[in-house]
Amino acid sequence: MPETPLEAKSPFELRVDLGNGVPETDVKSALASGDMGFLHSFTTGSTVDGPGVRVVAWTTGCTWRCQYCHNPDTWTLGNGIPVAVPRAVEELRKYRHGLKIMSGGLTISGGEPLVQARFVAKLLAAAHEMKVHTAINTNGHYGERLSDAELETLDLVLLDMKTWDPERHKRLTGMEPGPTREFAKRLAARRRPIWLRFVLVPGLTDDLADVAQIARFAAGLGNVERVDVLPFHQLGRFKYERLGIAYPLKDQSPPSPELVERVCAVYRAEGLTAY
Ligand code: SF4
Repeated sequence: MPETPLEAKSPFELRVDLGNGVPETDVKSALASGDMGFLHSFTTGSTVDGPGVRVVAWTTGCTWRCQYCHNPDTWTLGNGIPVAVPRAVEELRKYRHGLKIMSGGLTISGGEPLVQARFVAKLLAAAHEMKVHTAINTNGHYGERLSDAELETLDLVLLDMKTWDPERHKRLTGMEPGPTREFAKRLAARRRPIWLRFVLVPGLTDDLADVAQIARFAAGLGNVERVDVLPFHQLGRFKYERLGIAYPLKDQSPPSPELVERVCAVYRAEGLTAY
């Protein structure tokens, strides 16, 4: 079998079992030391994962189970390619000049990157050292795994906020919203910029009163530079089918442009910039 390349055309490539040969003890020590990480892939040329043109490292491993997740193959750590830090850094080094010219940088996404916080911290430090702009896209649940010093190597956090109401949040993601909010407050206290990401799913996250609560919270932080309202889509449906995972939203429609605009207006009403 040919080796799966680290670079992918898009995160919508289905990737499974690429790290399953790694013994459990090595996985544990990799998580503890961060010397090795598990990556779904690297993609290049993204213009939607932070400012400018980005290289995106897609990590595997996520403890959440958002009903609308479009990359369920990234839930399992062992689906990712085991990558030693020097190899990941070399991959980034190839692009560093181009990234600077295109006002871009590195974004670490997932999965949930902070499941592999030690590895992520090493990659951020290496990028920072190369003077490459750094971002992570996170649900914020494990934000406390990054030290204050490590936050200084992070130029931007793309923070997913899913819904406000705790019961609805639990139904939607399987998890409590509190740690995400605490991380947002900590980022505000440390003056690290946030781009808030909000996935809009008709009937699930389109309660405007609920959105208004997120908007008020975000506006009160003082470090939210913009809000991206991301319309739900079905690009990940085939992954559920191929993985044999029940997909509660298989017949869900995307939001209308009017609904996207109404939700953006709720954020704007709090003085935030929303797209
Ligand atoms: S936090 Fe992200 S990767 Fe994890 S289940 Fe939710 S959408 Fe998917």
